[in-house]
Amino acid sequence: MTTLTLVHLYPREMNIYGDTGNVLVLRKRLQWRGIEAVVVPINVGDELPADVDIVLGGGGQDAAQGDIGADFVRRAGTLRAMADDGVVMLTICGTYQMLGHEFLTKDGHRIVGTGVLDLVTRGSDHRLIGNNHVDTEWGRMVGFENHSGLTELGTGVRPLGTAAAGRGNNGTDQTEGAVRDNVFGTYLHGPVLAKSPEFADELLRRALARRGMSGDLEPLDDRLAMAAAAVAVGRPR
Ligand code: GLN
Repeated sequence: MTTLTLVHLYPREMNIYGDTGNVLVLRKRLQWRGIEAVVVPINVGDELPADVDIVLGGGGQDAAQGDIGADFVRRAGTLRAMADDGVVMLTICGTYQMLGHEFLTKDGHRIVGTGVLDLVTRGSDHRLIGNNHVDTEWGRMVGFENHSGLTELGTGVRPLGTAAAGRGNNGTDQTEGAVRDNVFGTYLHGPVLAKSPEFADELLRRALARRGMSGDLEPLDDRLAMAAAAVAVGRPR
């Protein structure tokens, strides 16, 4: 039986909103289906495994992004090659921003990105905070956002979905997140996958298909997750 390798980027610096939960959700949804997963934490200076199926990264403060910036950029060529080779990636907020070309903090400090996603982010004095959800082609994503970075998408990516006014990538163009090939970025914390089981399974389907294991996943009882999502969507921002 195949074992999938899940890489968790910078778990110490980039987990300020508990996005590690996305790692737990994917590993558990695989285990419930009899598929083993190994989780490889990647901290500054660690080498990436040769074969990776899913890369996951969470959110962090601007300062934390600065701390890992040089190490992240050192991996840019490898991460871009992995993305081009169809490796599945889900990055949240700060690591989402760093998959872009650059993150310019509100103090004017430029953090060079990895260029995996065609986007740029500019820090601002205005924070986008609150419960949020977005309907994507692969199911609803339910979480919350908390960021001052405003992200503009280039032509090399498309948005995950449409955000309500004042939310999402920049609070202006009503886009939320970005996707290209099997690489996804979003501002939704939560951990977002805990209340977005359909989207979680889309990531797993893509990773398994890349390993020649196509076909539908055994259905799981997601009533509790969907009930939690319904309550969260109904909550005021
Ligand atoms: N530091 C970035 C910002 O504030 C990302 C924050 C986060 O990861 N939630 O925009």
